[in-house]
Amino acid sequence: MDIRFNERLNRLPPYLFIEIDRRKAELRQAGVDIIDFGIGDPDTPTPDFVVGKMQESVANPAGHRYPLGRGKPVFREAIAAWFRGRFGVELDPAGEVLFLIGSKEGIGHLPFAFLDRDDICLVPEPGYPVYANATILAGATPHFMPLEASNGYLPDLDRIPPAVLNRARIIFLNYPNNPTGAAAPDRFWKEAIALAARYNIILASDAAYSEIYYGERPKSILEFPGGREVGIEFHSFSKTFNMTGWRVGFAVGNRQALAGLAAVKENLDSGVFEPVQAAAAAALAGPEAFTAGLRRMYRKRLETLIAGLNGYGLAARMPAGTFYLWVAIPAGRTSAEYAGHLLEKKGILTTPGNGFGPHGEGYIRFSVTIDETRILEALERLKQG
Ligand code: PLP
Repeated sequence: MDIRFNERLNRLPPYLFIEIDRRKAELRQAGVDIIDFGIGDPDTPTPDFVVGKMQESVANPAGHRYPLGRGKPVFREAIAAWFRGRFGVELDPAGEVLFLIGSKEGIGHLPFAFLDRDDICLVPEPGYPVYANATILAGATPHFMPLEASNGYLPDLDRIPPAVLNRARIIFLNYPNNPTGAAAPDRFWKEAIALAARYNIILASDAAYSEIYYGERPKSILEFPGGREVGIEFHSFSKTFNMTGWRVGFAVGNRQALAGLAAVKENLDSGVFEPVQAAAAAALAGPEAFTAGLRRMYRKRLETLIAGLNGYGLAARMPAGTFYLWVAIPAGRTSAEYAGHLLEKKGILTTPGNGFGPHGEGYIRFSVTIDETRILEALERLKQG
């Protein structure tokens, strides 16, 4: 037998975190106490009002069968109600709301509905790797849009060549942004919507961090004129309600874009377990104080980390959103070297910025999904030279 990966799988870039994971495991094995700022996975539990709903729902055999379809109407209505309250946008739960098995699943499947072989997908870089990798798996081509500090980590849409725009079918945008923590101003969303309309490109907005913000409350693209005509927006329960393991999210927006995604999903998965849908609906209906508490917690952790890093000579500023801190490393070092140095010499695990794309070179990312006492311990280790 000669089992070979197909051309598309072989085209995926190497998983840059493999080496870090391997080294982390080795050091842990050797008894090193590693302070892990690596992965963005909330460390505090899912709230009781969600867990309780799950426990209650899972006992009902009616929910044990294939969920099928876009989600149970009553739970899609809960999403529409939350969206109305949060963004002031009316959604038709029947045609403008789709449950997902985590927002990653929807983001990953979107290219399979809309990209053909010669098509291009516009992808921010540095960025969440799924946009480009799903594009490649779908047999199409990513075109990277650099995010640079000098432009507020917004892609310069005027720099995308018209020949690329003519072949582009999807543009992914993600604000609050992973990994930079940047926000997008209204002006940018309006420009992006106009560009998408002009070139007939689906604007896929990844709003996974919409509720983790420290300044202005992020907007939905559906709040802007024309947003609904061009846009599909991905939302996640993972960060808002500490539900990364539950695998649940949703997409809203343009009916045709949702219909394409739903058609792909119908052939590959059978929907979200009904008790998980019930729990997700309970999360959205729950007290806003829960997520406000998360924001306070992450803000405090970030402020502690920023103050300590600044004292250590690393420039860092409060991000607009997310629980990530994107930090420029000293000149003359590479991200991989610097992250390697922190890991080997201090037992501090960060993610090298180049793992998110070439424009991430010169940066490391801290995720503050660890307790403040551990953050202080890491800062102490840095001080110790
Ligand atoms: N989008 C971004 C930018 C992310 O960072 C993540 C997870 O880290 C996701 C989407 C996926 O989230 P989930 O699939 O848990 O909803």
